[in-house]
Amino acid sequence: MTAFVFNEPNFDAHEQVVFVSEPKSGLKAIIAVHNTHLGPAMGGCRMWNYASEAEAVTDVLRLSRGMTYKNAVAGLPIGGGKSVIIGNPKTDKTPALFEALGEALERLGGRYVTAEDVGTSPADMAHVAQKTSFVAGLGASGDPSPFTALGCFVGAQAAVKHQLKRDSMEGLIVALQGLGHVGYDYARRLHAAGAKLVVADIDQAALERARRELGAEVVPVDSIYDVQADIYAPCALGATLNPNTLGRLKAKIVAGAANNQLATADIGEALRQKGILYAPDFVINAGGIIKVCYEYLSKPEADVEAHVRQIGDTLAEVFARAEREGLPTSVVADRVAEQRFKPA
Ligand code: NAD
Repeated sequence: MTAFVFNEPNFDAHEQVVFVSEPKSGLKAIIAVHNTHLGPAMGGCRMWNYASEAEAVTDVLRLSRGMTYKNAVAGLPIGGGKSVIIGNPKTDKTPALFEALGEALERLGGRYVTAEDVGTSPADMAHVAQKTSFVAGLGASGDPSPFTALGCFVGAQAAVKHQLKRDSMEGLIVALQGLGHVGYDYARRLHAAGAKLVVADIDQAALERARRELGAEVVPVDSIYDVQADIYAPCALGATLNPNTLGRLKAKIVAGAANNQLATADIGEALRQKGILYAPDFVINAGGIIKVCYEYLSKPEADVEAHVRQIGDTLAEVFARAEREGLPTSVVADRVAEQRFKPA
């Protein structure tokens, strides 16, 4: 059999990759601890019906590495990790499954702290918490999405200042894709700041609400890339910045919450060449993890907002450095993270 972790393209000096199996509950999971230089690795637990074990390995390696970068740039005292449970989140969930995961985390002794993610919920995490304290985001103080939205808003303000040399959002047009937990709250803030919203979603009720409450103009899902806007705000899907959309975007700024916005890394340079200022996704969308981290470390809740607002300052530095050095913002953001988590 060929090795498939060390030579997997997403393997990047991960400190530890643990395969967990617990036959009684049927748990099959993989925990990847990417880097703990800044503190215990933190990142969510994804449950997904992976087509193969190799696909699960790819996902956990990629996502755990991403958490190291996100947590480091956000200035949090934590490293990066992730776990995946192989199974169908609609049919395979039991309390015993999550308790078994909790036991596995306990055996890791705190090197990895989990939280909810795609396919898992605060209720599932409550079962994990039966067996370990190495679990965050139990929902005790609510949904972290409003903090993600705040981070996006201050990030957009920093982008507007850098790119358009303006301090105000008044009259700017924002093409916003996805009016979900983060997108709607972000839209609300943009509207309050005087921006005009053009929105797309597959959820008719969300669109109707945005039209009614925020005066938003609604466009078909696929037309959002063609809107004559100042800002494109992707808040739904990943990989929306790709060779197909790049030629269509009119906006001079990309500032949204979605994860993995660049379909491939080279799109960062393509955006730069087109004169589009990209707020790197893992920098601008860190508000939620900041909130969850504060809760887990019992740091004062009153300080969360100020920390989230620092996302604007971080982005301003990333934009300035990218301009100085003639590099894509995505590359500069990676370097800022690496300077923090890679020991000298
Ligand atoms: P959500 O599921 O609440 O919202 C997603 C919205 O996108 C929904 O309204 C959905 O109907 C809409 N949508 C789905 N397909 C669409 C399409 N083709 N075109 C337009 N709209 C579409 O999710 P969320 O929590 O608001 O997160 C949004 C994005 O931000 C996700 O990519 C998520 O990974 C990322 N993110 C979220 C957080 C957080 O705190 N929730 C933190 C970091 C990153």
